This record gives sequence, structure tokens and C-alpha cells, in this order.
Amino acid sequence: MERRSHLMELPRKILIGENVLEQIGDFVDVPKSARVVVASGTNVLERVREIVGSSLNRSTTWVVVTHSDIYNVRKVMRASRRAHCIIGLGGGKSVDVGKLAASKLGIPFISVPTSASHDGIASPFASISDSKKHYSIVAKPPVGILADVNVIAAAPTRLFAAGCGDLVSKLTAVRDWQIGRDATGEYYGGYAASLALMSANVVIDGAGRMGSYGLPAVRDLVEALISTGVAAGIAGSSRPCSGSEHLFSHSLDSICPGKGLHGEQCGIGTIMMAKLQRLDWRSVRSALKKVQAPTRASQLRIGESEVVSALVGAAAIRPERYTILSQVVLDRESAKNLATETGVI
Ligand SMILES: [Zn+2]
Repeated sequence: MERRSHLMELPRKILIGENVLEQIGDFVDVPKSARVVVASGTNVLERVREIVGSSLNRSTTWVVVTHSDIYNVRKVMRASRRAHCIIGLGGGKSVDVGKLAASKLGIPFISVPTSASHDGIASPFASISDSKKHYSIVAKPPVGILADVNVIAAAPTRLFAAGCGDLVSKLTAVRDWQIGRDATGEYYGGYAASLALMSANVVIDGAGRMGSYGLPAVRDLVEALISTGVAAGIAGSSRPCSGSEHLFSHSLDSICPGKGLHGEQCGIGTIMMAKLQRLDWRSVRSALKKVQAPTRASQLRIGESEVVSALVGAAAIRPERYTILSQVVLDRESAKNLATETGVI
């Protein structure tokens, strides 16, 4: 099972800082005659269309992304037939959809996050859903990432807290990766794992500072999220970023879609999986509280039985991924105990 070789695909350039959105025209690095497609949500479009449009100063097609589904991917692809690059401008949906469309067409993708709620900003994966399921599809990583911390700081604070939740989840994801290595002999990349853990510690060790929500905290959050995406690129898989806590979140998505944000659910999942893995789950919970991320299911209007069902069904979401849930098989009673003991329900 040990991989003899694997391909690392990484972003080529990253521009992060205050008021850098107005530099997008120079950043895209395509000729003035080039066609550019901007995939974006309506709210974001209203906020930044003028700055982006005047800076790009090229033939630009704007495509509104409504959902992160295959219909929207096809819509962006149709608009991009003769485009030189696609810009995904927005939160999760536009970045995921733009990334997959660009990957399918074989053209460069530029990621321009306007919030920092998850690590898809820099990763080679696109999270796509249909009416029943969420899929993580292997695409290409963005060739460039432009992160304007002023724009990201203006996003709702709930999104910031969700980003912190996605970051702490690397703690249990990496432990699951080690558990998988020990049980099955699968490839384990120590460097990628360390990089992902470093990002988790930005929140676990620095929760007080992160909880200030100031510009330096926003910058740290974005840099850590980019770094975990890079860790996935180095690993050549989502292993360092996604373990049993993500399986729990995906399981919730199919049981009670739309209640919690991805990062919020992953944060709560991390508290419980850390306990199963005999890690310091209390420090995870305390860090999440300090950054005002939810630690109880009721904060997301998720019921006790939904949490229990999601825990019981999590391992079946992706059976080929070996995690702590492959070793500790949860039934409804043990799942309820776990959620109760960790204060999730
Ligand atoms: Zn995630």
C-alpha cells in the first residue's frame, strides 16, 4: 500500500494583504487581449464588482454561482469555452465551482476568497453536492490565490469562526492518518502532516488572539487555511485535512442539510473524535469557545438524535478511508455517550 511516488501540485503565487483586490488585474498575469471569466455569488458581486472589473480591464464574463453543484459547474464551463482563465470570487461555492470548471477545461484557476470559512481556498479538491450527497472531487489547485484581508474581515463573523473549526479539524485528521498508516501500511507524509498540525495550532494555541477577530487574526486564519490546502497538495490527497471529523460533518449534511456550516460541523466533530483518539479534546473545545465557534449541536439547531445518527453513519460515508471510526464502531448508545460526555448534546 506504500506509494512509491506521487505528484505534488501546488499554487504558484499567493498575494495576501490589505486592499490587494485592486491589484487583481496585474495578478491574473494574462495578456490584455485575454478573456477572463469571474464565477461569483450575487452578494459578493455587488460588493466588489466595480473594483474587480476596473482592475481586470479585460474582456470579462461574469457568471453567477447559486449552488456548488454540477449544474453550476457546467454553466461556468459553457461561459469559459474561449476564456484564458477562471477567477472564483467569493466564499465556498464560487471557489469550488470555478476550480472544478477550470480543471475540466484545463485552464488556470485563480482563487479569490471573500471569506475564510474553509480550506478549499488553496486545496486541489472541490466540494460539490447534489440533492442527496456531498462529494469531494479531485481537481487542480489554483495557480494563484489573492486574499484581501480587508474584504475577508468584512464577511460575517460566523464565517471566521467556521474557518477556525475547519482548522482545528486537522488535529484529528492527522491522527486518523497515523492510525490508517499503522493499521494498513498506507502512505503517510510526515511533512504534510506537520504542516497541517501547525495550522490547527494557530487556533488551538492562539485562540485568545484569534478570538479578537482583528485584521492580524484574519490574516493568520487565511494563511493557515492556505497552508492546509498546500499540505493536501504535498500529500497528494486530502488525508492531512480530512478525517473522521469530516466524515461526521458529511454525515450531518445528508441527515440535516443546511443547518451548520462545514467548518462549524467539523469543529464539533473534532471535539468528539479527539476524545475517541485519546487526544486532548478539552483544549479543542476551549479553543472553539474562545473564537466563538459552536461546541454544542443545539447552537446549530441540530437535535440529539441527528447527532447520534450522524456519528453512527459517519464511517459508511467513505468506507475506504481508515480512521478511528474503523476501529471504534459506534452504535446508538456509544454514540450518545460520546456526544454527551463531550458536551456536544
Ligand atoms: Zn474541511
